[in-house]
Amino acid sequence: MTRLLIVGPPGAGKGTQSARLTEAYRIPAIATGDIFRANIKNQTDLGKQVKAIIDAGDFVPDSLTNDLVASRLQEPDAREGFLLDGYPRTLDQLHFLDAILAADGAALDAVIQLVVDVDEVVSRLLKRAHQEGRSDDTEETIRHRQSLYQRETAPLIAVYGERGLVIEIDALGQVDDVSSRIAEALAARGIALPDTAAR
Ligand code: AMP
Repeated sequence: MTRLLIVGPPGAGKGTQSARLTEAYRIPAIATGDIFRANIKNQTDLGKQVKAIIDAGDFVPDSLTNDLVASRLQEPDAREGFLLDGYPRTLDQLHFLDAILAADGAALDAVIQLVVDVDEVVSRLLKRAHQEGRSDDTEETIRHRQSLYQRETAPLIAVYGERGLVIEIDALGQVDDVSSRIAEALAARGIALPDTAAR
């Protein structure tokens, strides 16, 4: 049972690395951004509530985000471990997550911090905007999301750091190299890949 969080500025490669981690550790990724985008695509009530907020690069209110995560964590697959991506993003969300995990006597095992150069990240995001046509990827919203990250989300790293949970990973370079660095760092903390015999 492995409970992980991956954190880093928008464009650091969290989605890419989390896809690999979920496969390797056989845990579901819980990516709030993906859940919101799916709701927008399917034009659900939630999707309609959050579309303008997400397009502007602002944070969806904690009241909506926390409930979403609380119910997702109750699903059977997540009870066997999970990888959170994009949540928590504020200190209030961090405390909320602490409370829902503690209610089950659980806690995070490690926080993977992807460390990148901000200029590098902005150019990656502009490239992705052209490729994927994400409506929240204009240069203005990209810069806005970076500054929100620095102001609201970066402080979470200090809190998790005090708990001894943070694994800093240099996230520049080839995707495979970054994946290997993560796998090695997790293994060094005793978070091993699942037993291959059980596959
Ligand atoms: P992401 O795919 O993680 O970059 O998320 C895309 C957008 O979804 C963000 O820019 C926010 O508008 C919204 N979002 C995702 N996760 C959260 C969260 N934990 N709290 C508030 N807003 C979020």
